Formats: sequence, C-alpha cells, structure tokens
Amino acid sequence: MKNELYIQNSLTRQKELFQPITDGFIGMYVCGPTVYSDVHIGNCRTFVSFDVIYRYLMHLGYQVRYVRNITDVGHLTDEGEDKMSKGAKLAKLEPMEVAQKYTVGFHDMMKIFNTLPPSIEPRATGHIIEQIDMVQQIIDNGLAYEANGSVYFDTIKFAEEQKVYGQLSGRKIDDLLVETRDNLKNQSEKKHPSDFAIWMRASDDHILRWNSPWSVGFPGWHLECSAMSTKYLGKTFDINGGGNDLKFPHHENEVAQNHGACGCKPANYWVHTNMLEMNGRKMSKSDGNTITPEQLFTGDSPHITKAYSPMVVKFFMLQAHYGSTLDITDKGLQDAEKGYRRLMEANILLQKMEATNGSASELDTEINDLMDKAFQQMSDDFNTPMAMARLFELVSKINSLSAGHLSNNDITNETVDRLKSTFNTFIYDIFGLLDEEIGTGGRNGIADGLMQLIIELRQSARTNKDWGTSDKIRDSLKELEIQVKDGKEGTTWSKS
Ligand code: AMP
Ligand code: ZN
Repeated sequence: MKNELYIQNSLTRQKELFQPITDGFIGMYVCGPTVYSDVHIGNCRTFVSFDVIYRYLMHLGYQVRYVRNITDVGHLTDEGEDKMSKGAKLAKLEPMEVAQKYTVGFHDMMKIFNTLPPSIEPRATGHIIEQIDMVQQIIDNGLAYEANGSVYFDTIKFAEEQKVYGQLSGRKIDDLLVETRDNLKNQSEKKHPSDFAIWMRASDDHILRWNSPWSVGFPGWHLECSAMSTKYLGKTFDINGGGNDLKFPHHENEVAQNHGACGCKPANYWVHTNMLEMNGRKMSKSDGNTITPEQLFTGDSPHITKAYSPMVVKFFMLQAHYGSTLDITDKGLQDAEKGYRRLMEANILLQKMEATNGSASELDTEINDLMDKAFQQMSDDFNTPMAMARLFELVSKINSLSAGHLSNNDITNETVDRLKSTFNTFIYDIFGLLDEEIGTGGRNGIADGLMQLIIELRQSARTNKDWGTSDKIRDSLKELEIQVKDGKEGTTWSKS
C-alpha cells in the first residue's frame, strides 16, 4: 500500500491505523437513502464524502466492495408510521412506485455529482427472507421476544450480557433506556421502553406486509442494514458508515442486532460524516432554512445570488473535512467557484507544460514535498481540505512557472511528469471532479479537442495575415464567453 492510512473510528473515538481484515481487500457498507422523497443537499454531502473515501481506498490499491443500500421499507417516523407507506398514501401511489421514482432521482443526482456507483446496491424489500432469518437467530440466542405478533430486541438483557450497548453513540445506558422512538403506539407490548422492534405486526391499513413466523408484518428499520451487510460483507467487515445523525438509534441498534444474531461486532471501523447546515443553522423545512440541489444549480432561491454548477458545489463540499459541520453560504459558494476554476485552469496549463531537462533544485524539492504532503494528508483520515491546500500551493508554482516568474530549468523532467499525474489523480480520480468548461472529464474532452482545432485555425489565419478570419473566430468565441489567452505555454482557453 502506498501510504499508511489513519481513520477516525467512531467506535473507539480515536484515530487509528487502518488494518483491513483481508490483505488488499476492503468491505465497506454505507447507509443509503430512504427513498420516499427527493434527496436533499445534506444527503448529497454524505454520499459525496463516502465517494471520495471509496475512490481514495481504491487509489491506495485496495479492492473495495462498497455496499450502499436503498431503504424502501421500515424507516419509521416519530409517530411510528412507515415513511414509505406515508409517502405512498399521500401521493396515492404504490409504495414501489414511490421507491422507484425517488431511487431514480437519487441515482440521477449521484451522476450529476459524478460519484461512482457502489459495487452492490441492495434494497431492503429484496431481503425480507434474510431479515426474518436474522430475527429468528436473535430470538434463538435469547435476545429478542415476541409480543402480539411483533418481535422486540431485549435491550436490558443485551446490555447486561454484553457491555457494548451505548458504546457507539456514547450514550449512558440510563439515557438509552428512556430514549426510544421506534414504535410509540405499541409501548405496552415491550418489556422495557428502550426495547426496539425488529419485526412489527402490520395493522390492517399498513400497505407493506409480508408473511413471517410471527405475523403478517414488516421488518424494523435497523434490521435491514444488519442483514444486508452480513449477507454481502460477512459477519464482521472493515468499514461501516453514514451521517452522524444515524449513530443513534440506527447504528447503535444495528450493532446490538449483529451481536444478538452473530455474537460479534459488525464492523471494525465506524465512519460518520457531519451535517450540512445553512447560514449557521441546521437545514430545516419548517423555518424555510433549506435549499435543494436544483435550486443551487438554477440560482432560484432567496438564499443565493446566482446559480452554482454541480462541480462548484462539490468543490465547496471538499473544502471541509467530512467530520466537520459544513455551513453552506452564498459567499462560501462564490469562493468555491473561484477556487474550482483556478484549480482547473492551472491543470490545463500544467498538462501543456513541456519538460525542459531542468536540474534538481530547491524548487524541485519543494514541489515534490508538497505532492508528498497532499497524499499524506489524504491518508490522515481523508483530509480533503488539507490536501486541497497543498494543491493550491502547487497551483501558485504552476502559474509562476507558466508566467516565467519561476524557471522550468529548475525542475526535472521526472518532477514535471509526477506533477502532471498527481494533479490528474487528485482532481479526477480521488476528488471525482469534472472539468465543466470542457465537458467530458477534462482529459481528451471533445470540447477541448475542438477548441484546439479552432485555436490552430486562428493561429494559421494570423500567420497568413488573414485578419478577417482571425477576427471572426475571436468575436464568435467572445459571444460564447470563451476567452483565449496567448501565453508562454501556448494558447489556452477558458469560459468567462
Ligand atoms: P436518509 O435518507 O434520511 O436515511 O439519509 C441518507 C443519508 O444522508 C444518511 O447517511 C444521513 O445521515 C445523511 N444526512 C441526512 N441529513 C444530512 C445533513 N443535513 N448533512 C449531511 N448528511 C445528512
Ligand atoms: Zn443503515
């Protein structure tokens, strides 16, 4: 492996040297969306963060099996109603119609943000048999009991037998015992308020229902992730993650279920992303403090002064560590827009830079040190803002070399090549950014090819003193808001 990787583990609250269970292979499970409404920009932040983690693990040379589920049953609201059924009833749709609509919408959004699809994307409704099996195992192990057709996890017994309940969310057992929300309607069936349903008997009007040994019903929300991660990644796998609002009750109960069924912890490392806020406050629909990805892309929101492209929004997200809260503001997005363009334009200049057989120098060492640091900082708990800061120090060097303020004779051919590949690796492979100015990922884009052709035609018109043609090309490009710059490294273009 290229670098030692350190991960902030929510389970131990420590930054730990990452050691996979199987050499060279990583199993990673991330809680996916509940598909009963459009994904919001906060959800996108979490999935973009895990995409960068996935990409970086692959960059380090690991083979990664990335499992991200679709929750299409069982996620309950505080009132005890299934979110999927509620969405379906409101819209007079089949629950699967609701799930399909928002799953497609989620996938479209993930493509817009240029995230990679996971290796497996299991649906909760496609794994009812596995969930029923798991309920049975937990009952057989004496950690769940049936009451009136529903099955409850016995938290008191679990907490007494295995001292891990509360460890992940950092809650004291006494607090856990009063805090439960999964099924307020049926509290009287439980031995203790903190017990949570792993199977629920369906009331007559409940749309999503399956046969089981206990009743016609449906699985508890937390169960799907335990059952599906075990099926695809094994009883204990490497990384389990999601937003930190899932730590309790979802992940805490997931840990309990896995111990209850398999007698072991589900994951060695738990990674939790922090929340996206707006103007310093939690995004909240009720007080209007919310913005959708579409509003960001069109500028149609009172919270912003203009539209921001998906890559600008993604760049903005990468400027904060996944573990810190991120406050979305118009000013922050404006700065991100400038930063994104500066980075992409420097890379265009860099890729055209010719190696001039320079010799090793202080500058050469400085450039190599900055590249080393950028990778080390990514390996320090996926620190994108720190790695990005090193890239921007390199951007200054690239611009100075291009403008002739620093000399190409002071850097070796090897360093020029390494710098080119480091920038492409970070921008495209690790951060997963696209060059929106040139359309198709920045490398050998069609638009870039066409622009090179136009630039060459303009050049030959000028050489032939065909001022009419050369002026026409310049004026047409101006109308399209494309700027052509003649510099030491040749002619470059950008969209103003
Ligand atoms: P949900 O569809 O509610 O299950 O959420 C999908 C994912 O988005 C989960 O990992 C949540 O923790 C995460 N998430 C929800 N709200 C936010 C937010 N404001 N900022 C970042 N992540 C969030
Ligand atoms: Zn989950």
